[in-house]
Amino acid sequence: MKTINRSFAWSILGLFLSVHAISPRAAAQAKPRQIVLKGARLIDGTGRPAIESSVIVLEGDHVVAAGKAGTVSIPKDAEVRDVSGKTIMPALINLHGHLGLSSNGADNVAGNYTQENVLKQLNKYLSYGVATVTSLGQDEDEIYKIRDAQHAGTLGGARLYTAGRGFLEYTGKTYPNDHRYRPQTPDEARADVRELAPHHPDFLKMWVDDGLGHGVKIKPEVYQAIIDEAHKQHIRVFAHEFYLNDAKALLATGLDGFAHSIRDQPVDQDVMQTMKARGVFLIPTLVRDEVLFAYADNLKWLDDPFFQAGYDPAAIAFVRSPQNVEKGRKDPDIAKYRAGLEMAKKNLKTLSDAGVKIAFGTDSGIPTRFPGYFEHRELQLMVEAGLTPMQAIVAATGTNAEILGGAKTFGTLQPGRRADFLVLDANPLDDIHNTEKLAAVWQSGKIVPSVSAITMSGN
Ligand SMILES: [Zn+2]
Repeated sequence: MKTINRSFAWSILGLFLSVHAISPRAAAQAKPRQIVLKGARLIDGTGRPAIESSVIVLEGDHVVAAGKAGTVSIPKDAEVRDVSGKTIMPALINLHGHLGLSSNGADNVAGNYTQENVLKQLNKYLSYGVATVTSLGQDEDEIYKIRDAQHAGTLGGARLYTAGRGFLEYTGKTYPNDHRYRPQTPDEARADVRELAPHHPDFLKMWVDDGLGHGVKIKPEVYQAIIDEAHKQHIRVFAHEFYLNDAKALLATGLDGFAHSIRDQPVDQDVMQTMKARGVFLIPTLVRDEVLFAYADNLKWLDDPFFQAGYDPAAIAFVRSPQNVEKGRKDPDIAKYRAGLEMAKKNLKTLSDAGVKIAFGTDSGIPTRFPGYFEHRELQLMVEAGLTPMQAIVAATGTNAEILGGAKTFGTLQPGRRADFLVLDANPLDDIHNTEKLAAVWQSGKIVPSVSAITMSGN
């Protein structure tokens, strides 16, 4: 995979620099500090049961040991912090987000796609405990330079992966500066994929949908060519889909992952078995289906202080404004949105019970879909759908890291993985809403500003 090759290249580069740039004596002096976190309940992201009283040893940016107190030795010179009563779990990974479309979470105007706005959103994600995000198909080409600089360690925020410019049929632009590919024939599709490939996108994203009958769906021969050509270029393909019949046709064509739930009718045995046999995953994005009516219905979470703490008051005022609420209420499709969410939840539970790989993503970052808070809301909706809190957490941590090709480097709290984690004041296995009791966010072994810290300091 190109992704793995690139990360591999970075680690070789890092190894080269560490071996050649520092003398052995300096290296010994510069040994990264060790920090021990002692006494917390540990949820490690693998799905193994939580460890009630744990010891986690960090060295520099990664975990070197984690386990039950008494089974992990505490290094002599380490700084030991007592975190008894807290719960530690891996930081969240969002496999379906968007960047650069809004400057404050709600506005949608030309010129929003700037490095400054992209970084602002990556920092917003991180402040809510989302340490990794995949931007799925609405980026401009400058995203690659941002991604590469960020992976090299010169830019902060949630760690970025991108699908670059996506593929769809709709002829109109749905946001200013919409530069997605719109191939009309299989030949055009192949040419577009070959133009995209040299940028080394982490995935390819395409839309296979008619927007509840309001748009034109991409033709099967065109998306078949996209998938085929992408696979020749070693790029995995994610599809936005809605209908069961499209999901089946996409599976038959070799699709790698569904970027949304199937929302028109219950999934059948055929879909379940194919997904399971081929390891095709589902990103449920339930909160994406909820937000379509959330403002019209004035849902309870709009008053959640954890939501209100993180965003520009003007953006929140906009989504709650009488005009926006009225617009939502008058949307002729609102009943279909509510039904779509219910079908998505039902299908999530069915697919999860059947042993299909469940990933985690939100479609946040689109204007009015707030990056950071929506990931916590998604966990809650997955639990409402019938998953256990542990299943929802594993989807958002270990499973997503595996899909990103990073199972050995991040996503779980095991030796050798990056120290990206959340410190919580209460146990999310008792109540998934407790992921909002965010005491601290750590990324690569360091505490970063979190939304709770920001609130406490009055900003
Ligand atoms: Zn999306």
